[in-house]
Amino acid sequence: MAATVVLLGPPGSGKGTQTSRLRDDLGLVALVTGDLLRAARANGTALGHRAAGYMDRGELVPDELIVGMIAEAIAKSGAEPILLDGFPRNVGQADALAGALESSARELTAVILIDVPDEIAAARISGRHEGREDDNPTTVRERLRVYHEETEPLVAYYEARGLLFRVDGAPSSDAVSAGIREALEAAAAIR
Ligand code: ADP
Repeated sequence: MAATVVLLGPPGSGKGTQTSRLRDDLGLVALVTGDLLRAARANGTALGHRAAGYMDRGELVPDELIVGMIAEAIAKSGAEPILLDGFPRNVGQADALAGALESSARELTAVILIDVPDEIAAARISGRHEGREDDNPTTVRERLRVYHEETEPLVAYYEARGLLFRVDGAPSSDAVSAGIREALEAAAAIR
């Protein structure tokens, strides 16, 4: 069955950097929900309009907007190995993902948590230069709060299913990449 990997971690954990590397090095097809939503906004789609306010406040976009978008992208990916960055972000989305994978005859290979403390995450975001609208201090605090409240429960959710691998996200990007590669090898080995 085609590999399906989820990358989990707070804003500022380096998910974006690691996603690009995995795409380049391992040929995984990356589905990045934040990028898909920003593209929807830039293209002025109905989804983009409805998502905008939530994104600017640092809140999660309602599940009914995001779940269909991801289910469609997964269905389209055929038998390609995929990497999900930014989805799922709460238990409802994780349950929806399980359903979407089942319909596509896919199985979750591994969930990789890039673990970094809030201080490092916030410092990294404030040092970014892409100038994202939602990278201001108030919204960053809200995104970290939402992460702990809504997304962090997924750590226990996936641990209970034997799918969770923790990688320390504090060291250099190279060291984090190496940790992720090890986790992916271990995941394949235990299956
Ligand atoms: P970060 O991981 O730095 O918070 P993202 O680019 O992943 O940034 O997400 C930006 C915003 O897009 C989030 O704050 C949220 O509003 C929205 N978003 C992204 N993914 C999801 C999702 N799975 N569910 C709900 N909202 C999402």
